[in-house]
Amino acid sequence: MTLSEEKLKYFIHTYGCQMNIHDSEKIAGILESMGYFSTDQVEDADVVVFNTCCIRETAEQKIYGHIGAIKKLKRAKPDLIAVVCGCMSQQEGVAEKIRTSYPFVDIVLGTSNLDALRDAILSAQKKKKVFNVEFSRYREEDFTQSRTSYPNAWVNINYGCNNFCTYCIVPYVRGRERSRPLDDVLEEVKQLLADGYKEITLLGQNVNSYGHDLEGNVTFAALLHNIGSLPGKFRLRFMTSHPKDLSQEVIDAIAAHPNICNNIHLPVQSGSTEILRRMNRRYTRDDYFALIDKIRAKLPDVGITTDIMVGFPGETEKDFCDTLDLVKHVKYSSAFCFVYSRRKGTPAYSMEDQVPYAIKKDRITRLLACQNEVTKEISQKMVGQNYEVLVEGANFRYENTMCGRTESGRLVNFKCDESNIGQFVTVKIERASSATLWGSITEEK
Ligand code: SF4
Repeated sequence: MTLSEEKLKYFIHTYGCQMNIHDSEKIAGILESMGYFSTDQVEDADVVVFNTCCIRETAEQKIYGHIGAIKKLKRAKPDLIAVVCGCMSQQEGVAEKIRTSYPFVDIVLGTSNLDALRDAILSAQKKKKVFNVEFSRYREEDFTQSRTSYPNAWVNINYGCNNFCTYCIVPYVRGRERSRPLDDVLEEVKQLLADGYKEITLLGQNVNSYGHDLEGNVTFAALLHNIGSLPGKFRLRFMTSHPKDLSQEVIDAIAAHPNICNNIHLPVQSGSTEILRRMNRRYTRDDYFALIDKIRAKLPDVGITTDIMVGFPGETEKDFCDTLDLVKHVKYSSAFCFVYSRRKGTPAYSMEDQVPYAIKKDRITRLLACQNEVTKEISQKMVGQNYEVLVEGANFRYENTMCGRTESGRLVNFKCDESNIGQFVTVKIERASSATLWGSITEEK
């Protein structure tokens, strides 16, 4: 094979949340439509994409390190095209910083103009750099996606956020809320089901406010009813729900359709009303408890998961104990616990009373221990019970072991082979460590 006949290859570094994972599928789709093939060796790539995240400072520093490492590769391979996109590049001053400090980067794009990638690559092939972080409104339908998560498929329903929690950079880098038309979402979901996907996960920074910017009375509950009524065996999940916007109608829609999973990710962030006020979350501790009661009254088997932050500016020992108390009472099936990270450009950055690192470290350790106890208790109760599980993929740490989730979102390991991926099976839970469940298939469907 001569050099000119060699396949062009791409490599994508994906950082951060599901939104970015799904954006990387769109990036892959664009590159594949241009004749590039995926490689898992960055050294072999002709295009290297950094799909970045800026939610935490440590993540950002790591990404800059990875971008810097491309310099050597570029020296050996001058035609290599280096692309930086995603949330970090949308932050004020970052495109300029990359232009001056990382001059070997060819393309910088923002969070909402991925549709410009094709033309940018064509320009870069002619050695013309493209730095474009303008907000635009691309339509998902405008390009093919290269999905990598079978049997699950991610589907964006809205972009951006209007909430301005005082610690969060997302509204600044992803812009204001924009909902996709209901018919577009429905068509995409129908096509995915026709293509054999077994689980659809609707994505949005705040799915509950879906539709408020569309004409007519379009709501998230209406979208759930529409998708939930589609024929065939599949699962529907969604994330993320802002507690202040989770309506009774949404809870009723989950209860009305067996294919909508009894699983809600409901980030609480703190168990202290005062800290919630400082975070601009617009609910109190009592509001949150009332919402949990409302959900459990209608969905008794629901698995509730959450995000919790410790060390927000001004958080006292008493505030932190309120968080521990809330965790014990709500009994989350799992919680993503993290330490507050100061983000330039957000109101919390300049708040007084920043919490010293040693205190943050102590609190995160105590919070993790507390949540572990809760998870363990829930896991133990599941031992001996049968659950429907969708076989999602291999657990490479163990031989012939696959994993999948229960409807409530708990990950289960069990023996079977890759031919079962995408199948619904019944698994009897046999043992449980804190977060991990092990079982055996008792029935294939
Ligand atoms: S709801 Fe708050 S935390 Fe979530 S993306 Fe919007 S501003 Fe950030």
